[in-house]
Amino acid sequence: MIIAIDGPAGSGKSTTARAVAEQLGYVYVDTGAMYRTVALAFIRNGVSAESPSAGKVRGLLANLRLDMRFGPDGMRIFLDDQDVTGDIRTRQVTEVASRVAAIPQVRERMVQEQRRLAGIQEKERGGVVLEGRDIGTIVFPDADVKVFMDASEEMRARRRYEELQGKDKEKDSNVSFQDVLSDIRARDERDVSRRLSPLRKAEGTIEIDTSNINLHEQVAMVIRAVRERANRPIV
Ligand code: C5P
Repeated sequence: MIIAIDGPAGSGKSTTARAVAEQLGYVYVDTGAMYRTVALAFIRNGVSAESPSAGKVRGLLANLRLDMRFGPDGMRIFLDDQDVTGDIRTRQVTEVASRVAAIPQVRERMVQEQRRLAGIQEKERGGVVLEGRDIGTIVFPDADVKVFMDASEEMRARRRYEELQGKDKEKDSNVSFQDVLSDIRARDERDVSRRLSPLRKAEGTIEIDTSNINLHEQVAMVIRAVRERANRPIV
């Protein structure tokens, strides 16, 4: 059972994906964390994410040691054997991530990695939840359940702002709500308008607007779709 959850930043997809995975005994793969970790590798290696040369990208990807591990607190991500799960949540990494995500070689490598991971998880646990921007369109266009989550821009920025206040107090303490709102706008624009795998609704997707419903309802909607899918005979 492959469950694909896509949507823009702050739409609530991570929280929902995590809760759905927990209820079903699956793990959830945060594919945004993978792009963020590649961004961190770009930053650490001093490679610019804006039109880098093909050679530089090739070199960086050839040496990239990316590892995803699943434990009781969800997915943890490692770069060169170092746990960077917390380090990839800064404003700088967020911005660079949406730039490296437009680089074809990066996407190719990530998609390959995501399919491999999901294959292992499906075999081990019978299913997996993946969340990102292109899961239902590119990574798993034949996913058993596809969900697209969205919410108003204001609401999404508010969620991100609160998240930043809570988690990254030391790192991004000077960020105002307006900063977060304009970051989200710029990122949405890049994610929606990029040539390669832009954020869009997959065919046959279930749309959930999370502006006015709570987490419990969001999770219930996805679980219902999973149960319906499981009961449907495969033709
Ligand atoms: O989901 P999150 O906000 O952590 O993702 C960071 C960035 O990674 C996004 O802005 C997007 O540009 C990119 N991304 C992507 N495809 C995915 C997941 C994330 O392009 N499947």
